[in-house]
Amino acid sequence: MISARLIGPVFLRGIEADLGVHDLTIAQGDGRGATAEALVTDPGGKVLGVIATRASRPGMGILGRAAPEILAGLAILIAAATVLMIRVSGALARMERNERDLTKARDEAQAANQAKSQFLANISHEIRTPLNGVLGMAQLMAIDELSDRQRERMAIIMDSGQALLALLNDLLDLARMEAGKFELAQSPIDIALLVKSTGAAFEGMAAQKGLSIRVEVAPEVEGAWIADGARLRQVLSNLVSNAVKFSDAGWVSVHVEASPSGLCFSVRDTGIGIAPEDLLRLFDKFQQVDASSTRRFAGTGLGLAITRELVELMGGVVRVESRLGEGSMFQFELPLQRTDATLLPPPHSRLGGRRQG
Ligand code: ADP
Repeated sequence: MISARLIGPVFLRGIEADLGVHDLTIAQGDGRGATAEALVTDPGGKVLGVIATRASRPGMGILGRAAPEILAGLAILIAAATVLMIRVSGALARMERNERDLTKARDEAQAANQAKSQFLANISHEIRTPLNGVLGMAQLMAIDELSDRQRERMAIIMDSGQALLALLNDLLDLARMEAGKFELAQSPIDIALLVKSTGAAFEGMAAQKGLSIRVEVAPEVEGAWIADGARLRQVLSNLVSNAVKFSDAGWVSVHVEASPSGLCFSVRDTGIGIAPEDLLRLFDKFQQVDASSTRRFAGTGLGLAITRELVELMGGVVRVESRLGEGSMFQFELPLQRTDATLLPPPHSRLGGRRQG
C-alpha cells in the first residue's frame, strides 16, 4: 500500500498556522538564503526539496497574536506589585512611627523614673540628716537622769525615730538601685560569725513572742569569704525579721551551708505562711499579702523587694516555699569565694536597720 501526501499550499498554510510563521515556500535545492528550512525527502532519503521561510523575525507572529493577553497579564502584575508596594511602604511607615512613639515613650518613662529616683534619694537624704540629729540628741538625753515617765517617752521617740530611719534607708537603697548607683563592697568577712550575730540580734524580739531562734552554720562555712558583709546582714535581717514578725508560735531557723557555687542561706519559720497566689508578687515593691487598713502587721512592703535586688546584685537568686498556716522558707544562694585574707570584724547593721517588728 502506498501512502502519499501532497505538499502544496494548503499543507503549507497548516504548518504556518501550527508554527506561527508565515511566508513558507517550497523550494528546490537546499533553500539557501532562507531564515529556516526543512528538508523534504523521499522514503529512500533522496532530497526532493525544502520547505523554507524567509520571514525576517520568526515568532513575532505568535507574540503579536498573544500580545493582548501578555499585556493584560503584565498590567495585572504591575497593578498587584504597585498595591503591594503601597501596602508594604504604608506598613513600614507605620512601624517607623510606632517605633518612634515607643522610643519617645521609653525615653520619657526613663527620664521620669530617673527624676523620681533622684528626688527620692535627695529627699531621703534631707530627712535623714535632721532625723539623725533628733536620734543623737535623744540618745544623749537618755543618759541623763530621767523619771520613769520621761524614760518611757524617750524610748518611744527613739523607737519611732529608728523606724522612720529604717524606712528612709530602704527608700534610699531602692532609689540608688533603680538609678543604677548601688555599689557593693568586697571585703573578707567571717560569714559564720555574721549569721550567728544576725540571729542573735533577733533573739529578744523572738523571745517576746515566745519564739525560739535556731542558728545552724555548717562546719565548711567557717573561715573568710569575700562579700559585702553589711548588705548580706541586711538581707538576712530582712528575712529573719519577717520570719519573727509573721510567726506567733514555734521557731525561726537560720541555716547556712556550702553550695556548688558558694553558700546557701535559708530562713525558715513556723508562721502564718503565704498562699500560693500571693507568692508571685511577694518580691514586688510595696506589696503586702494583707494590704487592708485593718492588717495586723506593720510594714512598708519594701523589705523583700530590697532583699531580692540585693541578692541579685550579689549574683544570686532568692526563692520562697510556703504553706498557708504552716510556715515559710526563704532561701538564697550566693556565688562567694573564699579568701586567705585577714578577717575584719563583722559589720554592724546600719543605725536603724530594718524596722524590727
Ligand atoms: P513588710 O514586711 O514591710 O510588709 P516585706 O517586703 O518584707 O514587707 O514583705 C512583704 C509581705 O510578704 C509581707 O507584708 C507579708 O505579707 C509577706 N511575708 C514576708 N515574709 C513572710 C513570712 N516569713 N511569713 C509570712 N508572710 C511573709
